[in-house]
Amino acid sequence: MSDRAFATRAIHAGQAPDPTTGAIIPPIYQSSTHVQDGVGGLRDGYEYNRAGNPTRSSLQTQLAALEGGAAALSFASGLAAEDALLRSILRPGDHIVIGNDVYGGTYRLLSRVLAPWGIETTTIELGDADQLRAAIRPETKIVWVETPSNPLLKIVDIAQIAEIAHAAGVLVVVDNTFASPALQQPLALGADIVVHSTTKYLGGHSDVLGGALIFGDERFVEQVTFQQFAVGAVSAPMDAWLTTRGIKTLAVRMRQHSENAQAIAEWAQQRPEFEAVYYPGLAGHPGHEIAARQMSAFGGMLSLALSGGPEAARAFAESTELFQLAESLGGVESLIGYPSDMTHASVRGTELAVPENVVRLSVGIEDVSDLIADLEQALGRISG
Ligand SMILES: *Cc1c(COP(=O)(O)O)cnc(C)c1O
Repeated sequence: MSDRAFATRAIHAGQAPDPTTGAIIPPIYQSSTHVQDGVGGLRDGYEYNRAGNPTRSSLQTQLAALEGGAAALSFASGLAAEDALLRSILRPGDHIVIGNDVYGGTYRLLSRVLAPWGIETTTIELGDADQLRAAIRPETKIVWVETPSNPLLKIVDIAQIAEIAHAAGVLVVVDNTFASPALQQPLALGADIVVHSTTKYLGGHSDVLGGALIFGDERFVEQVTFQQFAVGAVSAPMDAWLTTRGIKTLAVRMRQHSENAQAIAEWAQQRPEFEAVYYPGLAGHPGHEIAARQMSAFGGMLSLALSGGPEAARAFAESTELFQLAESLGGVESLIGYPSDMTHASVRGTELAVPENVVRLSVGIEDVSDLIADLEQALGRISG
């Protein structure tokens, strides 16, 4: 499958028709255990389903193919995947470097769960190579990268970070949730491991939670597989299947998400009600050139800063009709959020705090003229 193009791999990797019945879609193996042919006589290696389940296996094969990885592991949520990875690789006294706009839940995991177990974190402006070099010390094991970041859509150069980190013997982990593998391939750019909240674009329909790790090579596969088995935050068969189903349309969805978001960003730039538009597809975005180099399109996420300040931002987020006010992102339906009191409430008052006049849009794949009309009527309501 590795010689096939992305959209083909997304549909066919790990998805061979059922050999017994010819069902084009492999069955959902909704089973907790597998019968043995005599003690230890496992069929296809399956015994108890925390260790392995055929539906999860086919998702994992599909995920590895999407990112061009050696192997993938699928978990109950993005944070479960992150936790399994961090606890496999880090030991008390170890150190990790993160960007100052890392996903809030990742920051919370590091600062409130792993810090008490002796893991130290340094937060930097990740796009600044000097800050990165200065932050790396002998105990540093991981640089954690998110690009585009949440919610200000900052872009960092994955290849450059990988070069700096690898020169110091430090691993590069990329949370590729915002771009998705359809638009950005971190392993090919030098990253060691990719993390996903499959809850977002990979699932794509706001109907399932999940997380994934994709490994560039075999170095960490065994120890993280052990962690997945020993701790047990695996994806359930139905969840794995829904994610697989979503992934099959990823390439076509990401094209439309990107096209719609670009049109909305260009529209918003013309409106005096917004003092800033954060979207890497705009030529004026500080990360535009790097994004154009390392992504094949600019994605479906964009943020808007309201000229009217925090009250206008909050009122705008409450005035849309198609854009539903909700946390999360990456589904076919458009969402709007007010980060400082929603997704980023947990980082209020920290160095990760988000400007209070910012709203975040997860632009869906509805007809873009309806989406723009909705934003226009919301502006009309808050100025009225
Ligand atoms: C949502 C999200 C996560 C966490 O994933 P869950 O599935 O909610 O546990 C991690 N990183 C990013 C960038 C996210 O958007």
